[in-house]
Amino acid sequence: MTNLPDYSFQPATLKFLEDSPKKLFINNEWVAPQSGETFATRNPANAAVLAEVALANAADVDAAVAAAQAAFPAWAGMIAGERGALLFKLADLIDQHADVLAELETLDNGKPIRVARRGDLPYVTKHLRYQAGWADKIEGSTVPVTFPNQFVYTRREPLGVVGAIIPWNFPLLMAIWKLGPALAAGNTLILKPAEQTPLTALYLAELAREAGFPPGVLNVLTGPGLPTGAAMAEHAHIAKLAFTGSTSVGARIMEAAAKSNLKRVSLELGGKSPNVIFADSDIPAAIRGAQWAVFSTAGQECVAGTRLFVERGVYDQVLEGLTANVGKMVVDHGFAEKVHVGPLISAEQLERVAGYIDEGKKAGAEILAGGERLGDGLKDGYFLKPTVFSYSDDSLRLVQEEIFGPVAAVTAFDDEDELIARANATQYGLAAGVWTRDIGKAHRYAHAVQAGTVWINGYGMIDPAAPFGGYKMSGFGREMGKEAIDLYTQVKTVWVNTQ
Ligand code: ADP
Repeated sequence: MTNLPDYSFQPATLKFLEDSPKKLFINNEWVAPQSGETFATRNPANAAVLAEVALANAADVDAAVAAAQAAFPAWAGMIAGERGALLFKLADLIDQHADVLAELETLDNGKPIRVARRGDLPYVTKHLRYQAGWADKIEGSTVPVTFPNQFVYTRREPLGVVGAIIPWNFPLLMAIWKLGPALAAGNTLILKPAEQTPLTALYLAELAREAGFPPGVLNVLTGPGLPTGAAMAEHAHIAKLAFTGSTSVGARIMEAAAKSNLKRVSLELGGKSPNVIFADSDIPAAIRGAQWAVFSTAGQECVAGTRLFVERGVYDQVLEGLTANVGKMVVDHGFAEKVHVGPLISAEQLERVAGYIDEGKKAGAEILAGGERLGDGLKDGYFLKPTVFSYSDDSLRLVQEEIFGPVAAVTAFDDEDELIARANATQYGLAAGVWTRDIGKAHRYAHAVQAGTVWINGYGMIDPAAPFGGYKMSGFGREMGKEAIDLYTQVKTVWVNTQ
């Protein structure tokens, strides 16, 4: 394997890359794609090809759906706790292979290895175990109807074959957010990782086989949105599609769902989240919080707090502190000794983000930090310095559109009414933050802001027990918590004549 960074990789990581996983995982077997095609997945830190991966076409999707359909009755009918036990076993295996999975995640996605190892991987198993615990706790209810001599009860039943389409920013974690509740509830699954980051999902497939999942319960298809993702969205025998990604693709998936079989969809889409610093907050903590709210994962997070609203009285102080902190952030490849911000995912993404920065400058937003690409040893990768803009015109594209890169837009506000109006003046509604010591102000904002998650004096926490999802064009459906099980089940009402 050439062009790998200087790092002592686990032998299993190198072997996995050498084997170059050119096959699809269908019915517990590795099969050659009927398309006959492969595509390259690259290391965003140096643009080098990491592996050639199979490209699934519509015929491959058909084969995976057939396997998942065949597996469904036995899987749905299994004693629920036994399904849970298999998911717990998978979590144990993921723990055992965590170092390899973290290395593959950093190679494929670019994120710092420390983050993959201490962030992504522990979360993967925490979420999987939480959902595994639901398997034998999915209950119906008895219903007190108005008819005499009728006993009425409900059952929560699985939907059938579920498709999961995953983005590239948290490849394995997002896969587990969907795999956990889908399989715990008795559905079978076709998982499509993003074409930029297919490696950990393929590794996961092998672990699932080792854990003892019956053939067809989990199938992994690699390929781009077109044709692979689209063939899933259009498939008449996929009962539900769970999607995380951009709002534009989410809309296309809903359209395909409507035209094919009215499959259920859950959509976790883009964001342009407002994060607010009031003058009465713990300012150093708020600055640090605001900094990480935007720049973790190089800004490639759907919840990124990209619009920072600062109360006028502390505006200069916050800007000064933020730009000083941002100037100290180390941008480097993910295996570097010290790194805060890794590369962006792809050349296209780098171009897009750089385009927003150039346009913002021309449109009159003031650039206070960053804005440039990195040269020298990193010029082949997709690196961009953390960037801070100050602005006053809410209609700027960089204020309205999701950039998905390390770009913060900071503005001043004078009072709460103005703040709420401006914070809500976006098509998105995924998340929001507020920093203040005034408990009343904090809750007023939390209730008025149109967002699925609000953090008070913190930012970015996600937990398997806490429902997560969007308002407005950030999508619908709640992942995590008990709500996640609702996404993957349907209610049947049974009437029994007791006369
Ligand atoms: P991003 O802009 O963050 O790359 P996308 O929404 O383009 O996000 O991609 C997220 C996931 O959606 C990926 O797995 C991608 O392959 C898939 N995808 C892209 N286009 C389509 C489509 N037309 N139908 C179904 N899936 C798609």
